[in-house]
Amino acid sequence: MLARAGCRTALVERSGYQSPRAGEMLAPRANVVLHQLGVWEDFQQCAPIPATGIDSCWGADEVRSTDFIFSPYGNGWHLNRSQFDLMLMEKARQSGAAVSTGCLGTSVEGEGAGSWKVEFRAGNRVARMHTERLINATGRTSRLPGLDYPKRLLLDGLAGISRSFRMKSHTSARTLIESRPEGWWYAAALPGDTTIVVFLTDSDLIDCARKDLDKWFSQRLSETRTIQPAVRGAHEYSPLRVHSASSGFAVIPSARWTAAGDAAQSYDPLCGEGIVNALDSGINAAQSLLNDRSQPAEAAQRIDQFTRYLEARRAVYSTEGRWASHPFWKRRSQPVREFSMLPIERLTV
Ligand SMILES: Cc1cc2nc3c(=O)[nH]c(=O)nc-3n(C[C@H](O)[C@H](O)[C@H](O)COP(=O)(O)OP(=O)(O)OC[C@H]3O[C@@H](n4cnc5c(N)ncnc54)[C@H](O)[C@@H]3O)c2cc1C
Repeated sequence: MLARAGCRTALVERSGYQSPRAGEMLAPRANVVLHQLGVWEDFQQCAPIPATGIDSCWGADEVRSTDFIFSPYGNGWHLNRSQFDLMLMEKARQSGAAVSTGCLGTSVEGEGAGSWKVEFRAGNRVARMHTERLINATGRTSRLPGLDYPKRLLLDGLAGISRSFRMKSHTSARTLIESRPEGWWYAAALPGDTTIVVFLTDSDLIDCARKDLDKWFSQRLSETRTIQPAVRGAHEYSPLRVHSASSGFAVIPSARWTAAGDAAQSYDPLCGEGIVNALDSGINAAQSLLNDRSQPAEAAQRIDQFTRYLEARRAVYSTEGRWASHPFWKRRSQPVREFSMLPIERLTV
């Protein structure tokens, strides 16, 4: 967006998009955002699988189905996430942004009068760039030394443990969700005859199993009603990967720099909207820079949105009453007092 609007824009990414990434399901609302960004045709070239709905085993033993046929936005999608992110990067390049991959942002230094010196490393080479405006989009766990948040809240210790399975063919493009005493699972069919299976639990609850996480994961998987049958007989072809999946909110110092995506606020994967929210917040960040808007009003809007998200998260987790005394579920039934009690002035530094 910035490059298309005529701004000299540099986009720096540490990876080369070779490794698998977390987050594979695109919520139906993304259909609107992808059109808005002008990337719909390129998105279709990634051959995403149309997703027709969600089958969940949550709060009861039987499976309940939610069909996207009732969504005003149409169907959702299951993606090869690395390919999707690479496609967005290529579109930015075609729009005129200078793109560097395999390039790690290592530090940031304010130079006064609203300008920045940013240092990068690519292999043994170090490079510097001077810029007037900065958007931090480094995700939920990354840190960019020199870019300090006045406040950053981490609201839980949720972690996602994932494994991919090679399938003979896919029988369904529905997302499966199943709750268990220690957390919840999802499974999704992905392009390339792959199914991803992910277990979401609190990181302290797997501490005792870290020595043999493989065995622990397989054991928990075998206890599921719907997830294990979806990959029965399939070949496990990836090692286990552990991702941070915690919900978090960052206070962003308005005039000096801004943040987008998980670097600004991150959501429980259960809401299934992390990617589309990240796209939205990238669009908002670009618009703020283009309009040179001061941000207190936006900060209030973000706080309001995140408070509503926390209330919705608590309501959804409360519908699972079978293991209410287990730490995983008990923690999520508590109101998040720290967040809602923070005075707004402190959040708009
Ligand atoms: C297990 C799990 C499952 C999920 N499932 C879904 C789902 O099904 N649907 C959904 O919508 N959301 C899902 N999410 C959430 C979703 O993945 C995130 O909300 C989304 O990826 C946020 O995008 P982002 O661009 O802000 O951050 P990221 O996707 O984390 O991207 C950050 C980028 O910054 C780069 N980077 C980091 N530090 C530096 C640095 N110093 N220099 C240069 N580059 C850097 C990284 O390499 C990366 O490319 C899931 C999350 C988890 C953990």
